Amino acid sequence: MDIQQAIFHISFSLGGVIFTVVLYLLVRALGTGQVHKNLRFRTLIVIVLLGNIISILDDLFTRSVIVRLAPCYNLALFLLVFQANVFLTYYTFAYVECFFPDYRGKSIADKVNKGLVVMSVLVTVITYIYYMVVSPKVDVIATFPQWLHILQGYFYELYFLLYSMSPFVVNRKTLDKRTRNTAISAFAVIIAGVLMELLNTAGVWSGVLFNYFGAVLGLYIFYIGVETPDYKNLLLMVKDLEKAREKADYANKSKSMFLANMSHEIRTPINAVIGMNEMIIRESQNETVIDYARNVESAGKNLLSIINDILDFSKLEAGKMEIVEEEYHLSNLINDVVTMISFRAKAKGLEFNTFIDETLPDGLHGDELRVRQIIVNVLNNAVKYTNEGSVSFAVHGDIEGNELRLIMEVEDTGIGIKDEDIDKIFGKFDRVDTAQNKTIEGTGLGLAITDGLLKAMSGDVKVQSEYGRGSRFTITIMQKITSLEPIGDYREKFKEMADKKAAYTESFHAPDATILVVDDTVINLTVIKGLLKKTRINIDTCTSGADSIVMAEKKKYDVILMDYRMPNMDGCEALRCIRNDEIGLNGETPVICLTADAISGARERYISEGFDNYLTKPVEGLRLEAMLLDYIPTDKVAWRATI
Ligand code: ADP
Repeated sequence: MDIQQAIFHISFSLGGVIFTVVLYLLVRALGTGQVHKNLRFRTLIVIVLLGNIISILDDLFTRSVIVRLAPCYNLALFLLVFQANVFLTYYTFAYVECFFPDYRGKSIADKVNKGLVVMSVLVTVITYIYYMVVSPKVDVIATFPQWLHILQGYFYELYFLLYSMSPFVVNRKTLDKRTRNTAISAFAVIIAGVLMELLNTAGVWSGVLFNYFGAVLGLYIFYIGVETPDYKNLLLMVKDLEKAREKADYANKSKSMFLANMSHEIRTPINAVIGMNEMIIRESQNETVIDYARNVESAGKNLLSIINDILDFSKLEAGKMEIVEEEYHLSNLINDVVTMISFRAKAKGLEFNTFIDETLPDGLHGDELRVRQIIVNVLNNAVKYTNEGSVSFAVHGDIEGNELRLIMEVEDTGIGIKDEDIDKIFGKFDRVDTAQNKTIEGTGLGLAITDGLLKAMSGDVKVQSEYGRGSRFTITIMQKITSLEPIGDYREKFKEMADKKAAYTESFHAPDATILVVDDTVINLTVIKGLLKKTRINIDTCTSGADSIVMAEKKKYDVILMDYRMPNMDGCEALRCIRNDEIGLNGETPVICLTADAISGARERYISEGFDNYLTKPVEGLRLEAMLLDYIPTDKVAWRATI
């Protein structure tokens, strides 16, 4: 081999070395997609690298015209090249094995393969010793027997390559397209390298170790094909995930809509039941009947509160919970809550203690309804989960600038909550300790709503509990102060209220006033008529938006009560027609919206749509009267109750 040829060979192998080193660094830096294959892949790279280096040494010394080595080193190098080939192909097989976990270590072939590697090493060692003993001074490479050359140089190599390919052939149907194509391409270049080397016996190419070069290319193909993530697939997966998310969002929205609609549908008949029942309570003289009716009332209100919980919950989930802040009296709130809970506690035989700081400011600004809801939830739970002993309610606070840090504590001697359950009780639909609670009714929504509402109002709730002994819930809310006048003795006010509530009496008489009530559900019309009977107000009714327009053209009303949701023409459209009707008589008449739709129940929305005010169903008699009194011209109010 002349110098030019040697340089050519060496450059070729050097290229192989560089490519292999780059691949090794890439794998180290980026890793491979397959953890278990990582190590074998790296081993394979190192073997290819060593093979290339040996090939350079072989070119430099064994065949070189530049530097001649002593025959013993020459022979060693010559044999080492063969040996490197054996290891290279054996490790190709070891790497490929990892694609097929079932294939590994099971067959006798596995043992045969290992045996062949050992055999090749033995043959190399024996050959070396033999020549060193027989002709240590002679360079035997030129006269090396052909059969031994073929055995050590090509037999193992071809065998291991074919063996590595066999699982791909056998399992081709179970492989995904990417792995299959990668394997075909990689083996194609590796085999091409071997064949080129076999066929290439003359000219400048002779002696170039194409199989190593093929191996480097094969490794690159394996790396790109199966060791790096399948980006195409990943993109498809991302698209699938996006679709799944859209579906989930849609399903969630549908659920909220469904809840809103259902609650509307359910509230409408309950509205009728509670309203008609109220008529019975007012008009019946029979104590037993009144007693039955009171039971209907309590069950109806219970049902309504469950529906309201579901509604509130879906509002919170949809981020639609609105905090409507208005001025309110803390004393009123405490009175109402204490009244309600003391009845319940008494009915259960529990002691109900209150510790109210009478110096707390009475005038606050915030969402009274929601504050009330929070505290009622927690107090109700205290009564619900206490079988004997007491429930205590303490209200105190600190004034910070123009705000009150309102602290409400509820303590009970009830069943308590296990430490591990405390975090769970605020979860939606979560009911803990169900073995103990199975007879206690509940949806598991109360505290989830309480927590959600408090978050919406920047408040918080803390729980301390001892299982079997009782619990203490501490609620903190910041409320703006509008009046520093102290709340005083709430019991006094409570007594007054209780007396007032004892029996219904109408709050005004307006025999000269006329109102129009529009609702597609006839029973609702009957309820409203019944509720207002004692006020002696004149009531016209109709059951559709279209009819209401016709009626409003003919007669001037003092107030119109308009149902929001009606088939064909809804309340909003009817309102617009009445307002814009030039021949009509009610362009200026106050119109109050009646709505059972609490989920979209934004006060602002109804007002912005042109209604003067709104009332939620079930319509409560006293609230309806109070609202009418605000809108009926004062000269038509013949008498009003003194408060
Ligand atoms: P529920 O409708 O079940 O009462 P909540 O969300 O109000 O739902 O409460 C969640 C769970 O927290 C209850 O099921 C109960 O196990 C537990 N819990 C709430 N308050 C108390 C309390 N005062 N004492 C003991 N357990 C309570």
